[in-house]
Amino acid sequence: PPILLWFRKDLRLDDNGALSQACESGRPVVCVYIREPKQDGIGPLGGAQEWWLHHSLDALAAALADKGNRLILRSGEAAKVLSGLAKETQAEALFYNRHYERDAADKDIVGALKSSGLEIKRFRGQLLHDPETMKTGSGGAYRVYSPFWRALEKDGEPRDPVSAPSKIAAPGSFPKSEALKDWSLLPTKPDWATEFGRIWQPGEAGAHKKLKRFLKKPIQTYKSDRDHPGLEDATSLLSPHLAFGEISPARIWHETKGLEATNDVIHFRKELVWREFSYHLLVEFPKLATDNWNDKFDAFPWHFSKAQFSAWTKGMTGYPIVDAGMRQLWRHGYMHNRVRMITASFLIKDLMIDWRKGEEWFKDTLVDADPASNASNWQWVAGSGADASPFFRVFNPILQGEKFDPDGDYVCRFVPELRKLPKKYIHRPFEAPKEVLERAGIKLGETYPKPIVNHGEARDKALAAYADVTGRS
Ligand code: FAD
Repeated sequence: PPILLWFRKDLRLDDNGALSQACESGRPVVCVYIREPKQDGIGPLGGAQEWWLHHSLDALAAALADKGNRLILRSGEAAKVLSGLAKETQAEALFYNRHYERDAADKDIVGALKSSGLEIKRFRGQLLHDPETMKTGSGGAYRVYSPFWRALEKDGEPRDPVSAPSKIAAPGSFPKSEALKDWSLLPTKPDWATEFGRIWQPGEAGAHKKLKRFLKKPIQTYKSDRDHPGLEDATSLLSPHLAFGEISPARIWHETKGLEATNDVIHFRKELVWREFSYHLLVEFPKLATDNWNDKFDAFPWHFSKAQFSAWTKGMTGYPIVDAGMRQLWRHGYMHNRVRMITASFLIKDLMIDWRKGEEWFKDTLVDADPASNASNWQWVAGSGADASPFFRVFNPILQGEKFDPDGDYVCRFVPELRKLPKKYIHRPFEAPKEVLERAGIKLGETYPKPIVNHGEARDKALAAYADVTGRS
């Protein structure tokens, strides 16, 4: 009898525990991806990730076909779909990889399926280590990154990845599949994803290409270059592939082992471990995306202005580095890490808009949106998180721009209306003399917005609100 293999956020054949074990058993494998309705801990995916999912499923289906198998698509509640498929195919076992943010939902599904007599096996998910296996000396979860990293560096060498199976035995006949195009995952009118395909190749092959490119050169200067958004391709761009499980973190880690352990290589591993740390926090605190880790922030006087929020989402705040970041996000479904910090700080501290609004917007627009990394990073910037940047560290969008994008390359790429402005003013067009603006063809307030807030005043206001909240506790 066949084994049902339930694909979720592990859309790959390489280093896929559930798949390799299913193949080793010698039994036929029925591969299924289920589009589930919204439930606790389950989706829905944002628009940008729906685009990605479409292409990733397409790639997975082709990879399975190459191995003599097929991807079956079904919609509905997972427990119902799986028990129905088990009956149809006479499968007696279900294999899947753990999906950490939906542990609670999975428990219910497994409970419902057990009564149908299916043998159920769960394998490690998209992490180097299961959170339960990494605890502090006193037995609790790590809440601070540095000791977490040290523990992992000392004796947390991840296991070796397992290669893709050479063949995946097919059942005698395949159950029916829904058609991917009927899932309508791609945007139509307007098609805001026109540029995505130029940058991204969803799927396992795309992930390995990105890794290969990165290991060949950019990793050698990663530590210093990673903070400069004007340098294209200075980072790995693996985040969406990791979010969909098209490549495993153990595979990435393993591939870096062939390189000399320079500071750059170690720094890259440290970033992978930030991702890991975020997941360990999420498992410890499943409400990471909705509740302040530090409940002192529950009393923070957030103020929602629809007009200001809209200006932020559209990249029309009048601060060039913020606007470039928000426009990159819209056009590419991605934003450089340094600029994510600047734009998030701007929303939270300059506009005093609740970090959760920003987290939601990123979730809808990022191709790499990830329940752990997105929430923990927003809480990091807000100061409400576990190992967070203090609230009083307010990013100055002008100085950050001048420091990390000194020639304005990044700004000019995404805010073309400022291209003719002399470098001196590229991050502060509102300080440029009238004749300089005229020569650059800029009419502030018309061709490019005036700043929607005064950064200095906004900063003072935010700090006063923070002092008020912390003073009260
Ligand atoms: P690289 O620099 O090549 O790093 C390699 C990998 O390490 C990344 O792919 C990622 O998996 C991990 N990583 C790097 N930085 C971080 C970090 N700060 N936290 C956790 N993991 C990290 N990352 C996401 O994957 N999904 C998100 O939804 C997300 N939301 C964010 C929101 C905010 C407000 C901020 C400040 C950061 C967010 N990040 C998120 C983290 C980071 O910006 C991206 O992981 C990184 O920019 C991805 O580009 P890369 O793959 O080229 O990274």
